[in-house]
Amino acid sequence: MSTAPESDTAGDPFVSALQDLERRHLRRSLRVVETACDATVSIDGRRVILMASNNYLGLATHPAVIAAAVEAVERFGTGAGASRLISGTQGPHVELERELARFKNCDAALCFGSGYLANLGLIPALAKPGDLILADRLCHASLIDGCRLSGAALRVFRHNDVAQVARLLARGGTRRRALVVTEGIFSMDGDAAPLGELAKATQAHGARLLVDDAHGTGVMGGQGRGTAEWLGLEPGSLIQMGTLSKALGASGAYVVGSFPLIDYLVNTARSFIYSTALPPAMAAAARAALGVVRAEPERRARLWTNRRYLHDGLKAAGFRMTDTVSPILPVLVGDPDKAVTAGRRLLDMGIFAPAIRPPTVPQGTSRLRLTVTSEHRTDDLDHVLAAFVQVGQELGLTP
Ligand code: PMP
Repeated sequence: MSTAPESDTAGDPFVSALQDLERRHLRRSLRVVETACDATVSIDGRRVILMASNNYLGLATHPAVIAAAVEAVERFGTGAGASRLISGTQGPHVELERELARFKNCDAALCFGSGYLANLGLIPALAKPGDLILADRLCHASLIDGCRLSGAALRVFRHNDVAQVARLLARGGTRRRALVVTEGIFSMDGDAAPLGELAKATQAHGARLLVDDAHGTGVMGGQGRGTAEWLGLEPGSLIQMGTLSKALGASGAYVVGSFPLIDYLVNTARSFIYSTALPPAMAAAARAALGVVRAEPERRARLWTNRRYLHDGLKAAGFRMTDTVSPILPVLVGDPDKAVTAGRRLLDMGIFAPAIRPPTVPQGTSRLRLTVTSEHRTDDLDHVLAAFVQVGQELGLTP
């Protein structure tokens, strides 16, 4: 990224907006990672432990996943060339959708180019102007943007507050169609939604429940089928979406549900209709990743062992954390400047865990969002713990 000299940019509205972000410690910049997304990566020529990716099972570099992508590139080329409804549907898309439906124990699946696109297409297909949407306060930006784009009335409910959802549905949901939107595992807090209770409340009021399981897919449940499996829920009580870009190590997203739902989305989800198909190699990679999730349960076992080790170590050191139940381990810092300082100090010590600040998380809750994977070694995690203890003491984050 190149930056223009200050003298050339005086009075430029973009520059003043950036300076304003800078003053509030909210300016962001891109950092180049010079190697593949693994447990350790190279940044500025230095080897550092990566504690910030969502590659929970290390599948982004799994030989079988890479081989499937390479083979698909050789057979199907790089780009799909058109949207799915024009000439972009290729064998790997259909095969992936069949596998996803099986994996999630649903009738059918549909892939999208990314999770962001899936939510932008799915929610406006499910809710229209005149309908009501209730969304959890901590929902991901793509869900909120999808809700806004739908034109439905949007009410935000307190995080995981099922009683408030029931009240809002009783008040407004009987007169109009209602959709409740939440995440299976919340991306920035790592905690779970009470999906069973939410499903009961929505069913009682004839509403629908949409769950974004981006971070549950491949991770939660005995077979890694996601948060619904972990909670023992029937898939029929929810509409589920998830991404192919996190534990599955590829890119793209899926929606699963009934045959009519999926056919309806093919006909109405604008981000599906008007966007070039997922590259066939990504579909092939994601399908191979589903095979690895099934064939190598030891990866999930290692992930949970690592997760417990790091979580318990951070807790024992006295860090303030969220009620996480997942491999997302947020260490709460509070002020954005302090979070940035902590992130910089950690990078000096060979750990990449950048600060997460508003608007990604609510004001006053800036944090270091650590994510642990099956591929971290115990000595990596010991190094992370030792560095955290030191930085925690320097910045007064621990007692
Ligand atoms: N939903 C959630 C909960 C996410 O965390 C993310 C990714 N950060 C997305 C959707 C968007 O997915 P993608 O990165 O595939 O666009």
